[in-house]
Amino acid sequence: MTCMTRMTPISRRLLALLFLLPTLARGQADPTSRSWNQPVEPFRIAGNLYYVGASDIASYLITTPEGHILLDGGFVETVPLIRESVKKLGFRIEDVKILLNSHAHYDHAAGLAELKSLTGARLHASEKDAPALARGGKGDPLFGDQFPFPSVKADRLLADGDTVTLGGTTLTARLTPGHTQGCTTWTMKVADGGRTLDAVFVCSTSVLPMSKLGAEPTYPGIAEDYARTFRTLRELPCDLFLAAHGGFYRLQEKAERLRKGEGPNPFVDPEGYRGYLDRSEKVFRERLEKDRKPAN
Ligand SMILES: [Zn+2]
Repeated sequence: MTCMTRMTPISRRLLALLFLLPTLARGQADPTSRSWNQPVEPFRIAGNLYYVGASDIASYLITTPEGHILLDGGFVETVPLIRESVKKLGFRIEDVKILLNSHAHYDHAAGLAELKSLTGARLHASEKDAPALARGGKGDPLFGDQFPFPSVKADRLLADGDTVTLGGTTLTARLTPGHTQGCTTWTMKVADGGRTLDAVFVCSTSVLPMSKLGAEPTYPGIAEDYARTFRTLRELPCDLFLAAHGGFYRLQEKAERLRKGEGPNPFVDPEGYRGYLDRSEKVFRERLEKDRKPAN
């Protein structure tokens, strides 16, 4: 007989609660989310573009003389990190006037509601992902109600090619659906040291294990969306390769090289961008073939 089986139901419940407490205090229950959300030093990527996100969950600050733009809000637990990072860089979170989102998943959109109330900024979101943001991630075609987050209302709905301008800086929304129906890749020109760099903030081209591309697809037209997304992304001029997850573009390694003063700027990585597209398109093609195979 183990010690556990001799315990009364009440003491067993108490024990369970004690085990649960540190998890509740940390907020994020799963180790993967926690590992993605570790604090990192904020830094200037190039020109008026700064990294203010966590170890893997990205958030970008674009500063202008008329206020700032913030792309992605991370988890709820990323918001304190973003606030601290903006402050460390010498900017004020209250000066953020525009909030943008890569896609309506809990790891990139959960912090937006709090950031919106903190800053009073307007949220510009793609027409196809805005309903998911408003539902707080519930009823997601991929996750169902598994990963809810504080709901947030978009103030402006974006279509492919729409632009967002503030203080002389313009970002362009390119719809790159598949990972979500309104997955938005942002592009902008960054003036840096006398040259102009094309920055691409890739939404995500990941095909998650639970995605279905064949019969009974995650959503109708998902496979065609992915295929078109790869074509769109391949046409974009890219110097600065950035994305919603740091792991997509080796954020940590490049940040370390930048910190050491290594030149040229390691974030200027058009080859890395093409390599990412090649690898993820291969995964997509393989999954498509597998999902379309008739079941035996
Ligand atoms: Zn996602």
